[in-house]
Amino acid sequence: MMTSWEAIIGQAEPIRRLRQMLREDRLPHALLLLGPAGVGKRLTAEAAAATILCARPADAMPCGSCPSCQALQAGAHPNLYRLEPEKRGKAAPVLRIEAVRELQTDLSRAPAAVSAGRVVVIDGADRMNEAAANCLLKTLEEPGRQVVFLLIASARAALLDTVVSRCLVVPFGPLSEADIAHILTERGLAADEAASLAALSGGSAGRALTLHEDGALERRDDALRILASLPKFDMEHVWAEGKRLGALSAEELAEWLRFFRLALRDLLALYSGCALRQRDIAGRLAPLVKEYPESRVFSLVALTSEAERRLLTSNANSRLLMEALPIQMTETAEDAQ
Ligand SMILES: [Zn+2]
Repeated sequence: MMTSWEAIIGQAEPIRRLRQMLREDRLPHALLLLGPAGVGKRLTAEAAAATILCARPADAMPCGSCPSCQALQAGAHPNLYRLEPEKRGKAAPVLRIEAVRELQTDLSRAPAAVSAGRVVVIDGADRMNEAAANCLLKTLEEPGRQVVFLLIASARAALLDTVVSRCLVVPFGPLSEADIAHILTERGLAADEAASLAALSGGSAGRALTLHEDGALERRDDALRILASLPKFDMEHVWAEGKRLGALSAEELAEWLRFFRLALRDLLALYSGCALRQRDIAGRLAPLVKEYPESRVFSLVALTSEAERRLLTSNANSRLLMEALPIQMTETAEDAQ
């Protein structure tokens, strides 16, 4: 499939810059699209690649009909190379030297006739190990004619300075909540759900989609329900909730605890009149202000943070942890009196 500039939501500034360079035919041979994950860097690289490869671009837009554009639409362009980190076993994915060497072999051959130029998209350039990066460096120094490198990365610190110095850096910022909500509603989500996910996404559409796939809003709902019911719970309820939470997986629990803590933080924001992180639940939090004295909320934040820490760092038994937590939470009521 061919990605067009118009399909990219937000990122007006990096797109304007790239199209300007394409229009004036002064695109450098290596660019680094740098910014947080899930904000449109990959789509932008795809649109740039389509324009670079097109035989008859007009106003820095691919024509859509030349042999190169047709090859892209068919999903098989012989002069477009994609490098990605490879996952082996449980370790984090790594872009290895073998992949870079393979690319260098490909580039040493003559290009296919379908386009004059060639484009290499390296998504996850910050996951290159040092050997791969040093190997790529040689190609970045002497790229050969009509090869454009589009490197994509989110962690600047994980890139070799020598690699960065050979690229023109194009910075990408987080997306606005409105842009993310727009992306989500285009994918068929209801407007209120999209707005809630956008508020939790930290400006990353990718993160918003992951939250959606993981059922994060249901988990947040559950955390809010417990927070709202805790003052009314008797011991039987407290036990039952502890047992239920203890049966969740460690990842689900970590997320539940995070949402519980976020709700507490927003409750504190309501006391002090600060802006809420999750504006969409202001109506659900407001009645809780009179249920929880501020000192109790601080105690609950401390308890929740400690549970998160133990869950993440010490491989604590999550079942035992969560059977105890609601009881400790109930006890904070007595301490606050
Ligand atoms: Zn074309």
